[in-house]
Amino acid sequence: MQTHLSKRDQKHIWHPLTQHKLYPEMLGISSAQGAMIRDENGNEYIDAISSWYTCVYGHCNPQILKAVSNQMQVLDQVVFSGFTHEPAVALSEALMEILPHNQEKLFFSDNGSTATEIGIKMALQYHFNRGERRNVLLAFEEGFHGDTFGAMSVSGLSVYNGPFEELFLQVKRIPVPTVENIDEVESSLNTLLSSNSVAGFIYEPLVQGAAGMKMHDARGLNRILKILKANNVVTIADEVMTGFGKTGSFFASDHLQEKPDIICLSKALTAGLMPMAVTSCTAAIYDAFYSDEISRGFFHGHTYTANPLACTAALTGIKLLRSREMQDNIQRIIQSHKSFDMQLRENPMVQNTRQIGVIYAFELAMAMERYGNLRDILFRQFMDRGVFLRPLGNTIYLLPPYVIKDEQLQHVYQVILGILTEYQH
Ligand SMILES: *Cc1c(COP(=O)(O)O)cnc(C)c1O
Repeated sequence: MQTHLSKRDQKHIWHPLTQHKLYPEMLGISSAQGAMIRDENGNEYIDAISSWYTCVYGHCNPQILKAVSNQMQVLDQVVFSGFTHEPAVALSEALMEILPHNQEKLFFSDNGSTATEIGIKMALQYHFNRGERRNVLLAFEEGFHGDTFGAMSVSGLSVYNGPFEELFLQVKRIPVPTVENIDEVESSLNTLLSSNSVAGFIYEPLVQGAAGMKMHDARGLNRILKILKANNVVTIADEVMTGFGKTGSFFASDHLQEKPDIICLSKALTAGLMPMAVTSCTAAIYDAFYSDEISRGFFHGHTYTANPLACTAALTGIKLLRSREMQDNIQRIIQSHKSFDMQLRENPMVQNTRQIGVIYAFELAMAMERYGNLRDILFRQFMDRGVFLRPLGNTIYLLPPYVIKDEQLQHVYQVILGILTEYQH
């Protein structure tokens, strides 16, 4: 994979989540269109994970490009403290139409980590403003909420957080609910709540993305949320991954009766064109900050907050999401995954197949040691056959752009089946 770009890259660039001594090579990507990305040697790959769940309406979507290019001739960037603008206001109206009905106010920021960081700060200050000392956060084991300090503290996943752990926020963890464990989880929850110190609960509703697209029980989650609400714990749904159609409805929270107090959005929010995030909340949260006293306000702000171009991309994305065509695309992928699953679940190399909406995942039933760097080998094998997938350990998951063509999706399935057959022999 040694390429011209890769050589120049190695000179000055430090990549995310990368140990450069072990992985010096980066693949140069030169263009992308729809569900395809193309490298600098002209090889094409189907982007079967929507570039980390962002470009769900396709790369370089012409409608989004046109809207943003029009907007950038008119207003590029302006301070959002003391000023407002049409793209932000129009986006707030569009989001309110699709968010759960209890959501009332939107706070803008830049990325998924800032969206959850803001949710956490809102929960802590909500209690502070009401004169209650609550400083413990509650989170699911194996959750992922981002890489800034607060977000990292509530994430239960990374084995690489060693240097920072002593500095983390105070966090208690509970397992995700299953049909079997829910009574146990409820009773440990009640014990945790008895101290009256829990300020907020942050959770990825129904699907834990970074944990390997692990899915949990909606009924159990409802029960947990109900108990927390009865104890005035602020519930924060991190929908950074699950938002905007991926679970088959606009948001994963739409599958639950208990709606969150706060929702964190990013990734597909801006259709993969540029970074932005939103943290939404209920009127009750907002009202705890609304006061004659300045210090009760929420003193948090990022320079590019509500950037007009990002807002325009988001607004156009929502229009696309609500279109008949995109909804049909989502249904088509859901049905295709279901037929593929009938085939795959019979495969002796496969265990734990699972699906919600366009998200489909399974584990390879094989001892990890036997294949050594299994993940890297698999990644290469998929890429060699023109499919971009990013296995997480022995979990393989699909989250294709909604605009993926049927032939492209079938190609992805065939490549998976082909590779499984090779491993069997
Ligand atoms: C990706 C992700 C984040 C972090 O978003 P960044 O934009 O990478 O900071 C937070 N929560 C969830 C559920 C995510 O999938």
